[in-house]
Amino acid sequence: SKEDIQAFFKKNAFVLFTVGAVVVGIILGFALRPYKMSYREVKYFSFPGELLMRMLQMLVLPLLVSSLITGMAALDSKASGKMGMRAVIYYMTTTFIAVFIGILVVLIIHPGRGSKDEFGKQKTIEQVSPADAFLDLIRNMFPPNLVQACTQQFKTKYGKRTFQISVTVNDTLLNSSTNGTQELMEVTQEEVIPVPGQVNGVNALGLVVFSMCFGLIIGNMKEQGQLLRDFFDSLNEAIMQLVAIIMWYAPVGILFLIAGKIVEMDDLTQMGGQLGMYTITVIIGLLIHAVIILPTLYFVITRQNPFLFIAGLLQALITALGTSSSSATLPVTFKCLEENNRIDKRITRFVLPVGATINMDGTALYEALAAIFIAQVNNIEMNFGQIITISITATAASIGAAGIPQAGLVTMVIVLTSVGLPTDDITLIIAVDWFLDRLRTTTNVLGDSIGAGIVEFLSRHELRSRDVEMGNSVLEE
Ligand code: ASP
Repeated sequence: SKEDIQAFFKKNAFVLFTVGAVVVGIILGFALRPYKMSYREVKYFSFPGELLMRMLQMLVLPLLVSSLITGMAALDSKASGKMGMRAVIYYMTTTFIAVFIGILVVLIIHPGRGSKDEFGKQKTIEQVSPADAFLDLIRNMFPPNLVQACTQQFKTKYGKRTFQISVTVNDTLLNSSTNGTQELMEVTQEEVIPVPGQVNGVNALGLVVFSMCFGLIIGNMKEQGQLLRDFFDSLNEAIMQLVAIIMWYAPVGILFLIAGKIVEMDDLTQMGGQLGMYTITVIIGLLIHAVIILPTLYFVITRQNPFLFIAGLLQALITALGTSSSSATLPVTFKCLEENNRIDKRITRFVLPVGATINMDGTALYEALAAIFIAQVNNIEMNFGQIITISITATAASIGAAGIPQAGLVTMVIVLTSVGLPTDDITLIIAVDWFLDRLRTTTNVLGDSIGAGIVEFLSRHELRSRDVEMGNSVLEE
C-alpha cells in the first residue's frame, strides 16, 4: 500500500542517497569530460571511489569465511544437504537460462557482420586448452596453503594470460587517446588493475570449499566445537557491524567510482557500428534475464511480489554497478537481504558467499553471447553442436570467473578455444567491457539474491523444525 511505500522510503533514506550518488556521478563525469584530465588527475579524482573499493574488499575475506562457517555449523548435515541441493539446482537452472537467452538474442539481433576493420589493432593472446582451464578450476578449490589462498588467486596459467589482456587494454588506450604518450605510458604501468587476484587477493573458491567443510564439521562436534562456533559467530557479527559503517560512506565512493570511469572512458563515437550493436545486444539480454526471467521465477515459486524484493536490494545492485565486483558487493548484499528483505541468516550465510563465487548469470550470458558475436565478426557460422559446446563452456567459465572486475573477460578464453574461435579477438570487445562488466555484475548479484529468497522459501519447513528443536521463537509466515 501507499503507507508501506512511504515507510520504506523513510526507512531507506540512504538508499536514496545512493541512487542520488549514481545520478550525480554520471552528470559530474560527463561535465568533466571536456577537460580531458590526464591519467594522474583521473586517479586523484577517483580516489574516494578507490577507497570504497578497498574498504569493501577488506571485509570480503573475514565475511566469507565467518558467514560460511557459521552458516554451515547452524544446520544439521541433512538440512544443509537439502538446502545445498536446492541452491545448486537454482544456480544451474538460472545459469542455463541466462546462457540460452544470451545465445538467443545474439542470433536474432546478429550484431556481428564479418569485418574487423573498424575495431583497430589487435593483440595476441595465449591459447589455453579447455582441459587446462578446467583443471585450474578444480585446482583452485583446494588451495595447498590457506594463508596463501587469502592473499593470492589463480596462481597458475591464469595469471599470465590475464596480464596479457591487461596490456592489450592499455594498448587500446594508447592508440585512442589524445593525451599524449608521456601521460599514457603511466597507464601501461598502473592500469594493470584487472588482474584477477590482485584486485581482492582472495582465492574465494578455495576458501568456500574449506569453510563449508570446516563449518559442517564444527557443527557436528558436541561441546568441543562450541568455542569455534561462538568465535565465528561473533566474528561474523562484528564484521556485519563494520559493514553498516562502511555503507554510510558508500554513496560518496560510488559517486566518484562512476564519475571517474565516465571521465576516463573512450570516446562514445568510437562505439558505433558493430561494437555499438554488440553493446545493445548484451544490454537487451541482461535486461530480459534480470527484469523478466528472475522476477518471474521468484513469483512463480514464492507467490510474492518480486519487485518489492528487488527494491530491498537496491543498495546492493547499485554497489555492484559502481564496483563491478560481486565479491566487493557481498557485504552490502548481506545487509540488504537480512535487514530489508528479512531473509533468514542461516540461508544468507550459506547461499550468498557460494553464490557470489560460483553463480554468475550475467557473466554466463555474456560469455556465450560474446563468443557467438566473435564468430559472427569472423564470418563463421556456428552449428548446433558448437552452440551446445559454447553453452557448456560458458557455464564453466562463469563458475570459474572470480567476482572481481572484468574476470569474465579472462575466462572467455576457455569458451573461444572450445569451439576453435580466435582468442585474440577478445581484444575486439575490450573497449566496452568495463561498461558491460558493471551490468553483468549487477545481474550476478541480483541472481544470487533472488536465489537466497527462493531457497529460503523452499527450506521454510526445515528452518521451522530446526527452530522448534532449538527452542527458538518461530517466525510467523
Ligand atoms: N565482474 C563480474 C563479477 O564480479 C565478473 C565478470 O567479469 O563477469 O561478478
